[in-house]
Amino acid sequence: MQLSNRSRPARRRLEIGPIGEGPRAPCRSCGQDLPESTLDENGWCPTCVWDLEKKASRGQHLIALLVTVPFAIWIAVEGTRGYFPLYAWAIPLAAAYYLGMRIGREVVRGWVRSRREA
Ligand SMILES: [Zn+2]
Repeated sequence: MQLSNRSRPARRRLEIGPIGEGPRAPCRSCGQDLPESTLDENGWCPTCVWDLEKKASRGQHLIALLVTVPFAIWIAVEGTRGYFPLYAWAIPLAAAYYLGMRIGREVVRGWVRSRREA
C-alpha cells in the first residue's frame, strides 16, 4: 500500500513533466523540435499526426468509391441479377466499400508519410 502510493507520483511527474525536460527530437514531418514523449511511434508531432489523419479520413472514401463504383457498374451491366436478387448485392457492395475504406486509409497514410519524410 505504502509502496504503491510512493511510486505513483514519481511516475506521473515523469510523464507530464514540463516541456523542456527529457530528451528532445525533431518531428520527422515538419522538423519542429519537441520533447520526444510527444512524438508518435513514427517520430511525428501531434499536429502532423492530426493533419495526416484528416487526409486519411478524406482519402479513404475516395479509394472506397474507386473500388465500389466499378463493382456496382459490373453488377448493373453484366446482368448478374440471376445470381442474387438485386437488393442482395447491397451486402457485397457495402463490404467492398468498407474494405476499400480500410485499405484506402492505410494507403493514404503510407503515401502521405513517405512524401513528408522524403
Ligand atoms: Zn510535425
